[in-house]
Amino acid sequence: MGEDRKDEYEKICFMCRRPERSAGKMLEMGNDVCICQECLQKAVDSMKFSGISYNDFMNFMPDFSKGGNAAENNGGASKGDGTKQEVVEGGSDPDDPEKKEKENKGNRPGGIPTIGMINLSDILGGMGMGVPRQQIKKKKDKEKKPAKELDINNIPAPHKIKASLDEYVIGQEHAKKVISVAVYNHYKRIASGTDDVEIEKSNMLMLGPTGCGKTYLVKTMARLLDVPLAMADATSLTEAGYIGDDIESVISRLLTAADNDVERAEQGIVFIDEIDKIAKKRNANQRDVSGEAVQQGMLKLLEGSEVEVPVGAASKNAMVPMVTVNTQNILFICGGAFPGLDDIIKERLNKQASVGFLADLKDKYDDDPNLLTKVTVEDLRTFGMIPEFIGRLPIIFSLEALTKEMLVRILKEPRNAILKQYQKLLALDEVQLDIDEGALEAIAEKALEKKTGARALRSILEEFMLDIMYEIPKDDNIGKVTITREYIEHTGGPVITLRDSGYRLAQAEMPAGNA
Ligand code: ADP
Repeated sequence: MGEDRKDEYEKICFMCRRPERSAGKMLEMGNDVCICQECLQKAVDSMKFSGISYNDFMNFMPDFSKGGNAAENNGGASKGDGTKQEVVEGGSDPDDPEKKEKENKGNRPGGIPTIGMINLSDILGGMGMGVPRQQIKKKKDKEKKPAKELDINNIPAPHKIKASLDEYVIGQEHAKKVISVAVYNHYKRIASGTDDVEIEKSNMLMLGPTGCGKTYLVKTMARLLDVPLAMADATSLTEAGYIGDDIESVISRLLTAADNDVERAEQGIVFIDEIDKIAKKRNANQRDVSGEAVQQGMLKLLEGSEVEVPVGAASKNAMVPMVTVNTQNILFICGGAFPGLDDIIKERLNKQASVGFLADLKDKYDDDPNLLTKVTVEDLRTFGMIPEFIGRLPIIFSLEALTKEMLVRILKEPRNAILKQYQKLLALDEVQLDIDEGALEAIAEKALEKKTGARALRSILEEFMLDIMYEIPKDDNIGKVTITREYIEHTGGPVITLRDSGYRLAQAEMPAGNA
């Protein structure tokens, strides 16, 4: 029965991934591993060309006879030749007596293995291609890590932290200042240890419209400091025991981000986005498992407590080892757009304004895009955040809504600006990419209309770059492309300058953006 079912599936070559119908007859290596004749030949040839002698090869390979079902076909009776086991992890279980017997059968008299006895995963493992994949990957990750710009053990002064942030985050001067000071105090507090005067933790609450750079600010900060960062969405969190992520799962994610290094995780940053979605539900009759209960559940984490989290898994179960992480030194940053909070602020301000001389200024705040900067704890409570929760986020600040000027700067100024990325891409084809000031403004205007902050910039620019990236490589003579306002507004094409003559094909061959 089992055999029948096996026949239903087509064999696929383990190396080239071609199915049997195109790669030809397959050799079964055991453990459901098949290899086509061509790949097998290549493997043998490459061993020959690299000058590996038979003896070296035998010494290198741990034990050829672990070859699963193919080994059974080779009825040799002599013992294995005692090759070493140290190179390969995995493979067959040495304690299994049945397998051991197969292993002993596997080698022919004289110790020469048949090809059918080779355990392919052993070979690939030995060549650094196969089994201990995780180990190899880990090693590479470590090599890739860029040098950290700021050292948390010797934390630089706030103005230096802000200067580093300035290279990436445009505008948001107040927010950058606040976060620099908070981070400076936080890591100084950790470095000094807690003596007689305990310095309060600098957990933060960040308010700001969508796409204004809240996540980006935190991500940049974590990268500059080279501390692990875990990001979670408050909407997916529920009280423990209900469908959704446990609150403690964010600590588990942080541990993963710290490569399971508890000490590193304990100095990390947790960013919880959409925190406004866990506001207390007004007039709710049912149990509020994803709102107020989550706020309650987070209290202990924010303040500092010992949390048992599974290592290398998102949920607790009996099979996963647990470690204890202390959240005392973890910096929690919560962020949210808080829609509707501006009305609450406006109402409060208007109430104050309707008293006495200021009574006639009722609509003064109607068009204020940065009303959130005037937020008070009282407003947040009216919004539905519980006082204990707000109390554990002592630093409350807001980010400004992005203006047209800021959007233009975001397009071209940050170290990894979108425009710079395209310029670099085209420079690889030896084509220079320029953009008119008018075009930048036109893109910013389009982005403002979308009301998703800077997030819209990339998608808009991508739309227009598609034609350019498609057409330019067609013609080697093109030396420079200039994006114009007309191109963005669909009334013309980009200006193309040819390489040698300097001749301008004014808005010629390129089609006007079709978006
Ligand atoms: P949100 O405030 O909704 O969390 P994000 O931080 O995710 O918004 O911003 C989206 C993207 O917009 C970021 O990845 C970043 O590239 C860009 N961006 C937003 N604000 C800024 C800014 N002030 N400076 C530079 N880039 C920004």
